Amino acid sequence: MTRRGGAALALLTIACTSVEPADDLTTRVVRLRAPIATHVEHGRSAPLAFDVPALGQRVRVTVEAPAGVWVAVAGLRGPAGQVLAPEDWRDHDTTRGEACLDCALRLTPGPGAFAVQWPQGPDAGVAPGRWQVRVVAWTRPGPDGALSPWTGVATATVDALVGAVPPRGVRVPVRVLVPVSLASAATLAEVGAAVGEARSLLGQAGVDLDPVTVHTVADRWQQFDPGRDAADARQLAEEAQDLPPGLRMALVGRIREGAGPPMRGTCPQVPGAAVAHAPTVVAVALGGPATWTAQAAAHEVGHWLGLYHPTEAALTGPLVGLTDPIADTTAGDPANLMHPNGHPEAARQWTPGQAAVAVGQTVPWVALD
Ligand SMILES: [Zn+2]
Repeated sequence: MTRRGGAALALLTIACTSVEPADDLTTRVVRLRAPIATHVEHGRSAPLAFDVPALGQRVRVTVEAPAGVWVAVAGLRGPAGQVLAPEDWRDHDTTRGEACLDCALRLTPGPGAFAVQWPQGPDAGVAPGRWQVRVVAWTRPGPDGALSPWTGVATATVDALVGAVPPRGVRVPVRVLVPVSLASAATLAEVGAAVGEARSLLGQAGVDLDPVTVHTVADRWQQFDPGRDAADARQLAEEAQDLPPGLRMALVGRIREGAGPPMRGTCPQVPGAAVAHAPTVVAVALGGPATWTAQAAAHEVGHWLGLYHPTEAALTGPLVGLTDPIADTTAGDPANLMHPNGHPEAARQWTPGQAAVAVGQTVPWVALD
C-alpha cells in the first residue's frame, strides 16, 4: 500500500480501526455456555440463557443425560422472540417423542445424548443477542408405553461457529470397528473397498474421511440392535472410547431392531457429529456387494453430519410428508444419497445445499476435539 500524504493516512487509520481485528474474522468455535449441571423437574428444566456474538454462523446445543433417558430441547427462542421450538411441543406431540412436528427445526431426540444445531439449511447466520432454551427429558417404559416425564440432572453445553467465512471443507478421522471373527483377509479387503468408495462419495460433499484406521471389537458385535433405547450404540461407543478421536463406524454382520427386518445401516443421532460422547456409533451391515456397503456407509455418515432424508419414508402416521430443511433437495429424488430407501447403485449424489450443511454441521465438533 502506498502512502500519499497525511490525509490519506488518516483515512486509512480510521478504516483499519473500524473493522474487527483479523483474529475475529477467522472462523472458529466459541463456547457460549460451559457444560453445566441442569436440573430437570417433571420433564423440563428452567430456561437457560446464552448470548450469541456477532458473526455467529451456527449455534449448537448439546445435552447429555443418563443412559435410557430421552432428551431434547423446547422453548428455543431468539432475541427478537423468534421461536424455533415451542415450549409445549412434547405435550401434544404425536410421534412418541421421535420428532417435533411443531418446530421450525428438525429435532432428533435421543436416549442419553442429544444435539441440535441451527440454522439447518446451507445459509449460515444466527441473530446476535440473548437466546434461551429448556432441556426436556422423558423415559419410554415400554414399546407401547406412554412417555414418562423425567426428573434428574442433565448436562447442557452451547457452542457457536463464529467468523466471516463459512468453512468449505472438513476432515473427519474415522475409526472402523470390525468384529474380531470377521477380520479375515477377505472381509478386510471388502471393508477396504467399501470404505474407500464411501470416502469418494463423501469427498464430493467436501468431507474428507482421513485418516481411516481399522480396529477389532468383540464378536458379539456381529449383531447390532439399534433399538432398546440405543443400548448397543452406547455400549459399543464405550468399548471404543480409548481409540483416538473420530467417527466410530462399525461394520457388522447384521443390523435389526428386535425381530424386525434386517437394515443396511443406522445412525443413532442427527447430527451425531455434535454429540460429545456416546452413543455416536454409525453401524453398517456387511454382506452385500462392497459398492452397496459403501453407499449405506455414506448415507449413515450423512445423518451423522446433520442431514435428514429429503422426505421421510413413512406411508402412514405423523411423519408422512416430513422433509429436510434444505431447499435444493427434491422429495423422492431416487438419485439422492439421503433417499430413505434408495437403490444403492442409483442413490449416490448430494445437492450443493446438502454439502454445505454437512460441512457446516461438522466443523465445530472437529474443531473442539
Ligand atoms: Zn437414513
